[in-house]
Amino acid sequence: MLTIGTHMSIAEGIAKTAQNVVKMEANTMQIFSRNPRGSGYKTYSDTEVEKFQKIRRENQFGPLLAHAPYTMNLASGKAETYEFACTVMREDLARMDALGIENLVFHPGSHTGIGVDAGIKNIIAGLDQAITGRENITVLLETMSGKGTEIGASFEELKAIRGGVKHPEKIAICLDTCHVFAAGYDIVHDLEGVLGEFDRILGLSLLRAVHFNDSMMPFGSRKDRHAPVGKGEIGMDALLRVMRHPVLENLPFYLETPFDEEGHKAEIQMIREKLRADV
Ligand code: FE
Ligand code: FE
Ligand code: ZN
Repeated sequence: MLTIGTHMSIAEGIAKTAQNVVKMEANTMQIFSRNPRGSGYKTYSDTEVEKFQKIRRENQFGPLLAHAPYTMNLASGKAETYEFACTVMREDLARMDALGIENLVFHPGSHTGIGVDAGIKNIIAGLDQAITGRENITVLLETMSGKGTEIGASFEELKAIRGGVKHPEKIAICLDTCHVFAAGYDIVHDLEGVLGEFDRILGLSLLRAVHFNDSMMPFGSRKDRHAPVGKGEIGMDALLRVMRHPVLENLPFYLETPFDEEGHKAEIQMIREKLRADV
């Protein structure tokens, strides 16, 4: 069965958000682990959390995904930025684990001039101060487009991060279709080749989630602009091949496309119809 959802705002609380997922005829969701552009977070009452758990259980949600804020840069060489990132990673890992969220995804970070190796060192130390090894939650490194000084646009860099931490068993990968395409992995003409390379470098068993986006920017542009599914440079056919691929079809797919909830509901419906139609 297809596991599909979208990025959801949790402004109305986590129970109401889960209810909105059901209304959208989706069966999973991605939420921010805290305010994506600031630093604050809300704590939920026990009743609210119970209600949330009941909704996801009764509607058989697939794995849920929390996304760390964009302001968190674990690769930073600036003390203040780095301290903040470490605190957020530590707190949100514990908070999302306590909520029973299966995966926490984050952008590895931008080295902003200190170099890839120093950036990766910082990321590893940041993960090590947060992960105890006793969590149920898995931390996912997101494949990035490579804009600016972003780390994680190559499978090798993701491998270097995972290979350096104390608890690699708690680290896996979230593949963003828009980002890998922009980074120069040709999922349009050579999906097999890209998955083969992923398998050689990281191992396909580490793939736990897919950010399912089209790209406004061309192949290899190293620019990160999401387009609605089928409306970008990747296109409908290539995205459907991703969704149907035997090694990917059982993963949860999360749309991060520029729509509100009504628009996302229609987009999910369209995807389901296309999947059913042309086999
Ligand atoms: Fe992301
Ligand atoms: Fe993404
Ligand atoms: Zn993106």
